[in-house]
Amino acid sequence: MMKEILILGAGYGGLTTALTLQRNLSYNEAKITLVNKHDYHYITTHLHQPAAGTVNPSKIKINLNELINMEKINFVKAEVKELPIHEKKVILHNGDILTYDILVVSLGSDVETFGIEGLKEYAFSIRSINSVQMIRHHIEKIFADYKATNEQKLDEGELTFIVGGAGFTGIEFVGELADRIPQLIKTYDIDPNNVRIINIEAAPNALPGFDPKLVDYAVETLKNKGVEFKINTPIKACTKNSVILANGEEIKSKTIVWTGGVRGSEIIETMGIETIRSRVKVDSFLRAPGFQDVFVIGDNSIVFNEEGKPYPPTAQIATQQGEHVGKQIMSFVRNEEMELTPFVFHFKGTVASLGKGEAIGRIGNWKLAGYTAAVMKNIIDNRYLYSIGGLPLVLKKGKILG
Ligand SMILES: Cc1cc2nc3c(=O)[nH]c(=O)nc-3n(C[C@H](O)[C@H](O)[C@H](O)COP(=O)(O)OP(=O)(O)OC[C@H]3O[C@@H](n4cnc5c(N)ncnc54)[C@H](O)[C@@H]3O)c2cc1C
Repeated sequence: MMKEILILGAGYGGLTTALTLQRNLSYNEAKITLVNKHDYHYITTHLHQPAAGTVNPSKIKINLNELINMEKINFVKAEVKELPIHEKKVILHNGDILTYDILVVSLGSDVETFGIEGLKEYAFSIRSINSVQMIRHHIEKIFADYKATNEQKLDEGELTFIVGGAGFTGIEFVGELADRIPQLIKTYDIDPNNVRIINIEAAPNALPGFDPKLVDYAVETLKNKGVEFKINTPIKACTKNSVILANGEEIKSKTIVWTGGVRGSEIIETMGIETIRSRVKVDSFLRAPGFQDVFVIGDNSIVFNEEGKPYPPTAQIATQQGEHVGKQIMSFVRNEEMELTPFVFHFKGTVASLGKGEAIGRIGNWKLAGYTAAVMKNIIDNRYLYSIGGLPLVLKKGKILG
């Protein structure tokens, strides 16, 4: 009997699992099904660009039929609703029920609001092509409305753009926004002094985990681009027209973009197993504890380092996990027993963009800042594109990610 492999999510983790199997298994060696709610993969690590409006959203989308050999993999465009793994099945929103011999769960993350009042209702988030299109249109509309109402609304914080969270995503977004705003100022002929970008962070520093010198470089670079920082300043609540800080200060704004945290997809809670912020503490082979047939990877999983600290959820770890799980599944397809190998994460470095031509990062023992770091970010992006779609994809999409 042909073994049935079911992969949920075609993001960094799920797509890499599917491509590993596609490359290494022959036709009809296994029945592989990939379920994703869209028929495209998107470069999540670049969502901050279309969100700010510096890159068209279509540029970071790749149709799955350009990556997946549909003869080898059965692609199902559908939304997963529930994961009753005790019953060995997956329920889709359209009512269909899927079964499997091996399940790979890689459904990405949801926004973590930390219970901040009004955040869910009034703040935007950077998490999908659809969500960033909303931010992009909203920002453009704010400028158009401001101009149309004869610039009378300054006291209402009409042109104040608040970004909650100065971690990786928040910093990349403010860098991009600081590049975009001057274009909008020019288009709508608006006094630059009326526009504010404020980045608010609860922690004592921006970019927690980065080298302090690189953080200083990032903050100075962004300040020079006009970004204001409020560090060590928790947000208490969000309303339709303002952000209220824990110190009581209220900042009027109609644009709040929350980048302050992520948790695993809420669907993980339907698995009926123990989770931490909707993420599964997987075993050393990346399986859900107690389940030999369920792998959980990417933002849905928690893996601990040698010091017992969880690795942050990144595209880097998700792709390494996807490849690892793909290889273990191949051994299951070809043998009666699965050859299990413990997953070991190899940190290859990290680079955060600060807008066009500027970045900071660490590659091995090298600390990079400025244009060199931006070039390195481009190389990392192109390497990923190459890994999923070869040279044609790098030539097609590589340039715009610069
Ligand atoms: C702006 C931004 C910048 C980032 N920059 C970096 C970076 O520079 N480096 C880095 O390593 N990491 C970065 N990250 C983090 C990285 O993008 C994530 O850790 C990574 O995408 C996780 O991969 P994943 O496969 O778990 O989930 P995703 O890549 O999010 O994939 C999940 C997939 O599941 C699909 N899906 C979700 N729910 C359902 C459902 N119910 N039914 C069917 N399909 C569903 C989604 O459409 C998506 O295709 C960044 C994240 C953001 C938001």
